[in-house]
Amino acid sequence: MTKFIFVTGGVLSSLGKGITSASVATILKQSGYQVSMLKIDPYLNVDPGTMSPLEHGEVFVTADGAETDLDVGNYERFIDVTLSAKNNFTTGQVYSSVIKRERQGGYLGKTIQVIPHVVDEIKDRIFAACDDKDFLIVELGGTVGDIEGLPFMEAIREIRFELEKTRTMNIHVSLIPFIKAAGELKTKPTQHSVQELRRIGITPHMLVCRTEQPLPKALKKKLAMSCDVDLNAIIEASDANSIYQVPLNFIREGILTPLADHFNISIKPDMTKWDALVKNILVPQAEVTIAFVGKYLELKESYKSLTEALIHAGAHTNTKVNINWCDSERIEDVGAYDIIGNSDAVLVAGGFGHRGVEGKITAIKYARENKIPYLGICLGMQLAVVEFARNVLGLEDANSVEFDKDTKNPLIYLIDEFLDQNGATQIRTQESPMGGTMRLGEYPFNPKEGSKIQAAYGKNETYFERHRHRYEANPAYKTQLEKAGMIVSGESNGLIETVEIEDHPWFVGVQFHPEFTSRLENPNAIILDFVKEAIKNK
Ligand code: GLN
Repeated sequence: MTKFIFVTGGVLSSLGKGITSASVATILKQSGYQVSMLKIDPYLNVDPGTMSPLEHGEVFVTADGAETDLDVGNYERFIDVTLSAKNNFTTGQVYSSVIKRERQGGYLGKTIQVIPHVVDEIKDRIFAACDDKDFLIVELGGTVGDIEGLPFMEAIREIRFELEKTRTMNIHVSLIPFIKAAGELKTKPTQHSVQELRRIGITPHMLVCRTEQPLPKALKKKLAMSCDVDLNAIIEASDANSIYQVPLNFIREGILTPLADHFNISIKPDMTKWDALVKNILVPQAEVTIAFVGKYLELKESYKSLTEALIHAGAHTNTKVNINWCDSERIEDVGAYDIIGNSDAVLVAGGFGHRGVEGKITAIKYARENKIPYLGICLGMQLAVVEFARNVLGLEDANSVEFDKDTKNPLIYLIDEFLDQNGATQIRTQESPMGGTMRLGEYPFNPKEGSKIQAAYGKNETYFERHRHRYEANPAYKTQLEKAGMIVSGESNGLIETVEIEDHPWFVGVQFHPEFTSRLENPNAIILDFVKEAIKNK
């Protein structure tokens, strides 16, 4: 029977609730338990798919094609488990289901209310995410006291009331600020947020205290007493140099005892491999620099999975991967050399919209002509095809129809009909609605014999990678491209998945997002090879 750990946050956002949740999950997983995770987002959007990356950070795509919160990415990276649409839901989804059921007559005769109907829907969704695992870690977005979080808090309270005491645990992540003028750490904000939580009916079993300074014992005692939490369950969480250090820090802080005591089970994690990888991240033997060309540079969280995937590759090669952030619009102004300079490899990430596209094309040309290892992801692959068509095939107006609807050479086009993951036909036009209408999630493909992609994976079998895009490389140009040296090295049901340049040390474009399947203990093979090529090129 699944045990539940609910993680809430207090005082302010960005305290690292996601990393706390993922770290607790990692400790349990490495102790031999089966673990799943759930992120609840109290906002009204149905999913983050239509939010700006600058507003919300990255949209993480699950294998089954759900557009989810970036914390779900952290979960997969930490616990090395493939999650699905069930593992993230929002207020928007909860209300959509309740209202749909109401229209279908599912509540006939009743007045529909937040309690019980909305709260019941929330509870159903929490239970649906268990998947018969030993543990489900549930992270509630936002901060205690938020109006929109209340129905979720109530659902947590009810579940805690309904199940045996050893099946639910509440962890509250809070801030212990250091007030410079007073030279003191202050517990009052945490006391207040725990009071708010208790007013709702939830007394936390553990406090994870974010702090810039070590918490003295006396202060832990004060927190324990005022918040009604066992002294050994006051866990200090000081800033870490790497997020992957956090599970190790928690163990050092003594988290195992309160967890084991509460659930009345043995918790003995084997962190040997994890520890070695973290050491490689913290004290790497070598360094390499990758030019990361993008346009959402104001909020690096928009490229979260990719920057993490580079860290994973670095951990497995004992190398620090430095990122030279290259603003594609600046490349348009001053050219590639000044911005990319002597970076050891070039990476063009995914993106939407016209801004910065020409700068990316300039960067790709630079990597191709100077034989610098290149990885193009999604838009980065599409533009590699466009660049090749323009500058090698001589098709000057080659473009993606995303940027020039009427181009005579639509190297990247909109296929009007395609079969989605479930074999259903999707019709796509420029006018299709924006939400959830892209090619999303995992699709199979077979890398071509002798290709760099195949070399990266190591074996010749079917691989699955995740997609999130509306446009596709146009197969009508395949023969022309291949004759000139750009080969299609992977296809999925007739759709072009990967391209490579034959006469180049390592030039690879992938239509999918390899970063979504990279985990600390299991890095993505293509990104790992890309980093190895960067190291070779030093
Ligand atoms: N804008 C492109 C498309 O929709 C690429 C998307 C991406 O890079 N994720 O096809």
